[in-house]
Amino acid sequence: MTPNALVVGELHDGHLAASTLEVIGVARALAGGAVAGLVLGAGAKAAASEFGRFGVPEAYALDDPHLDAAPAGARAAPVAATAREVGASLLLTASTTAGRDLLGRLAVAWDAAVATGVTEATAFEGGVRVRRPVFGGRATETIRLEGSRVAIATRPHAFAAVAESPVPCVVHEVPAPVLSEAYTAPQRTGVAVTARGAGPSLTDASIVVSGGRGVRAPENFRLVEELAASLGAAVGASRAVTDAGWRPTSFQVGQTGRAVSPQLYIAVGISGAIQHIVGMVSSRVIVAINSDASAPIFRVADYGIVGDLFQIVPALTAEVRRVRGA
Ligand SMILES: Cc1cc2nc3c(=O)[nH]c(=O)nc-3n(C[C@H](O)[C@H](O)[C@H](O)COP(=O)(O)OP(=O)(O)OC[C@H]3O[C@@H](n4cnc5c(N)ncnc54)[C@H](O)[C@@H]3O)c2cc1C
Repeated sequence: MTPNALVVGELHDGHLAASTLEVIGVARALAGGAVAGLVLGAGAKAAASEFGRFGVPEAYALDDPHLDAAPAGARAAPVAATAREVGASLLLTASTTAGRDLLGRLAVAWDAAVATGVTEATAFEGGVRVRRPVFGGRATETIRLEGSRVAIATRPHAFAAVAESPVPCVVHEVPAPVLSEAYTAPQRTGVAVTARGAGPSLTDASIVVSGGRGVRAPENFRLVEELAASLGAAVGASRAVTDAGWRPTSFQVGQTGRAVSPQLYIAVGISGAIQHIVGMVSSRVIVAINSDASAPIFRVADYGIVGDLFQIVPALTAEVRRVRGA
């Protein structure tokens, strides 16, 4: 069998990232099951065989720690070479910072039609039709990607993760590229771990609970955090909260903060300024809790609760805990 789709996976703590499992599902839907995997960087060889757990019988690994710190361009040549080797006509990865960088390079290195931030994808004879939010989520564009080489990056959480269906997986080693000075000269000199709430990270979480100025004081923000903890959610905030120093800027959702697209976004005491909306509007289900029925957040909310957050949020947290038996 010649694979005609190549999934470029990302690693998280030495294992395939959750976003990669979503990409595998898309690849199988588009390529009819003929899929190979590829991972690059430190630990790639050990992680590559995990593709087999998700029904991918063939994987490629470039186990080179230098690639972790090198600019994205360093990965483009080995990725393009692997795509050629497996005879792929379709390449998929997650639309993370690394994935978007890679696709820009592959447009040239693999001479491909590319699209990032993809939230829907369907195959047609001769290409793939994709949809993605644009203009901060205020519109959705549809693109036909035609040609013998198409590369797409799927937005994390936009697709379901593939279920486990173990098959034996053959892992091939990809030779390390000879990197030019342009790729070896920039050195990562440190990694500062971003301050974040307990629970999952904002960008990975499938549920996000964010608090705004409506919580009135930093000590009241625990109401937001308790609701988040009861749901196993990440904690976010509006800029009013981070500007006031109630929570670090790394919590901020919006135009000048993080863009998130969880399955469920709960906005607590957030008015819904456009700069906040653009960072969360592509969430699958949006719930807003606000005492002002005319607050703009209700225009994008699927469910709105008009009322005092100081009554609603503790009651909601208690009910979630009761239902979950916590
Ligand atoms: C260039 C630029 C970039 C920006 N980037 C961002 C960004 O990335 N992210 C961001 O969030 N903002 C951003 N902003 C700021 C944005 O314009 C808003 O000022 C900010 O989002 C407001 O935050 P808020 O909704 O928490 O506060 P407010 O607008 O003050 O809203 C508080 C809400 O709480 C409600 N409320 C009050 N008391 C209660 C209660 N007891 N129960 C329930 N509800 C209650 C009120 O009705 C109100 O709707 C940016 C602004 C600019 C100019």
